[in-house]
Amino acid sequence: MPTFSIDLKEGKLVKNSDLIVGIDLGTTNSLVAYMKDGAAVAVKDPDGKSALVPSIVHFLPEGGVLVGDEAKEKLVSDPRHTIYSVKRLMGKSYRDVKGFEQYFGYQIIDEDTESLVKIRVKDRFYTPIELSAEILKALKARIEGVLEQPVSKAVITVPAYFNDAQRQATRDAGKLAGLDVLRIVNEPTAASLAYGIGLHPDDNQVIAVYDLGGGTFDISILRIEQGVFEVLSTNGDTFLGGDDFDRVIMDFWADQNADLRSLLETDKGLRQEMRLLAESAKKQLSSSDWFEGRVGERHLEISAQQFETLIQPFVDRTIDACRSALRDAGLQASDIQHVIMVGGSTRTPLVKRSVAAFFGREVNDSLNPDEVVALGAAIQADVLAGNQKDLLLIDITPLSLGIETMGGLMDVILPRNSKVPARVGRSYTTSVDGQRNLKVAVYQGERDLVAHNRKLGEFILRGIPPMPAGLPKIEIHFILDADGILRVRAKELRSGVEQEVEMRSQYGISEEEMALMLIDSIQNAQSDMAARALLEARNEARSVLLATDRFLIQNAELFSPEEKAQITAIAGELDAAVQGEDKDLINKVLEDLNTYSAPLAHRALEANVAQALKGNKV
Ligand code: ADP
Ligand code: MG
Repeated sequence: MPTFSIDLKEGKLVKNSDLIVGIDLGTTNSLVAYMKDGAAVAVKDPDGKSALVPSIVHFLPEGGVLVGDEAKEKLVSDPRHTIYSVKRLMGKSYRDVKGFEQYFGYQIIDEDTESLVKIRVKDRFYTPIELSAEILKALKARIEGVLEQPVSKAVITVPAYFNDAQRQATRDAGKLAGLDVLRIVNEPTAASLAYGIGLHPDDNQVIAVYDLGGGTFDISILRIEQGVFEVLSTNGDTFLGGDDFDRVIMDFWADQNADLRSLLETDKGLRQEMRLLAESAKKQLSSSDWFEGRVGERHLEISAQQFETLIQPFVDRTIDACRSALRDAGLQASDIQHVIMVGGSTRTPLVKRSVAAFFGREVNDSLNPDEVVALGAAIQADVLAGNQKDLLLIDITPLSLGIETMGGLMDVILPRNSKVPARVGRSYTTSVDGQRNLKVAVYQGERDLVAHNRKLGEFILRGIPPMPAGLPKIEIHFILDADGILRVRAKELRSGVEQEVEMRSQYGISEEEMALMLIDSIQNAQSDMAARALLEARNEARSVLLATDRFLIQNAELFSPEEKAQITAIAGELDAAVQGEDKDLINKVLEDLNTYSAPLAHRALEANVAQALKGNKV
């Protein structure tokens, strides 16, 4: 039920509805969509051109951040303070990204190889969660501006391959941005919803969703039956996407210009400029067969054919993943009734051709591949709001979940590709006589030894009454909710001793850390605002000083020596104030100068008009 409240400041009635928005928080681009008159629409920028907000955050020298297109412009001029592709770092430890650091123009910090990576900007360290929160804040502000009402509830999408830590991190970013994240949804599930497939109860089919974005590739096989979406299998690569296409074009140009390679290694600004040029080349080659451009003095060119040869290995890798996904689902290419194309990189003709050839059918690309995920997220939000009652969504776990048993072995409790929500229990016992405590260590992954898998967390079940080894009956339950977030419960059945924990992995952040980050960001917001106000006052003062100089020179003969001396004195005061840090002083002197010079300006204007009129008569 929508409620109404009065906005006192404006005195107008604002709708305070229960709107839930859909957000595609992408590696390269993010966007927000909502349901308008029964249809999902993506929210465009104020000029109505594009709904895409580049997932880029730039830190201004004087404090504060820019997000989106404005931040993208800083990639070339100030790469060290401009953070892109942060989604690649979500929920990752430094070890996870080791070897890939050179693809980031900014500094990634190796604080302690086991912990969450941090990004260094000037003398502060930011987590990928904080940076993603900046992007989410920008999206929130964008939709609030369009709808003229506060928005606080959202559904956010993630690649199907995101593990628990990455999902947690995404949820935390939402929280930090002031959003209540009602559901984390897999991107392919959202894409299929956007195509309306499965919205009719007798719509029964099996589809493939091929999503090639800027930084991630996902292939998902979905079965849709009577309004139920079931992900049969997923496969993909979190380090494969359009960024790689850009990179091979850059390498191609560097190979042709021997001196470029060494320059690129040392000059990060040049690297970014080349990166952007390579991206425009790639985009142009989606609809023409030749590209030429310049970087500084250098002429650079590439043909569509050369480009296709360069990216063939990447495209082949995506096709291999499609093959594996089909195999996991126990299906053949001919069983697939629709192939949905998602992500900006599916505009590349070689990609479309190869996917169509592999599945032996025309691909479905009628919707804007950049927007489908956000549109589907908005539809999912609508389902959660209770507006589409018949729809049920079932996802699956991308990786196996289990616990460590004797000898460091992984004992899988929930195998990969299990449907969620899920609840599975299994019995264990102790290995030592009189054992009172039992460590339950939870891992995610497909390897037999836990050391090779990812640890999600551990806890100790305490207070087991002393019994001979093998006698206690300990039941471990895994409860996986619809977001793919895991709770683990351990219970010793003979004594009733019990413990349950939510697996906030070592890569996630705790409530306390979250609170600290919030306080921190509020404090910074205040100092950022003060810094911005000072900067604005200085800018204003500098331009008034320039105008005053010009004014005095142009109208020298109109003013008395005292008047000129007075203006020069106030201008001198303003000049001194600009050197200082006191924005109130700058504004005060600025006002003094305006007050004093207003009548003089008026006199000058009249004299000039009279002069012009006289001129006309002659
Ligand atoms: P993500 O899901 O990773 O945020 P998107 O779906 O927004 O990514 O896709 C971004 C990628 O799509 C970028 O690598 C971009 O260069 C690429 N892209 C956008 N338009 C085109 C085009 N016309 N041809 C080829 N690639 C494109
Ligand atoms: Mg995407």
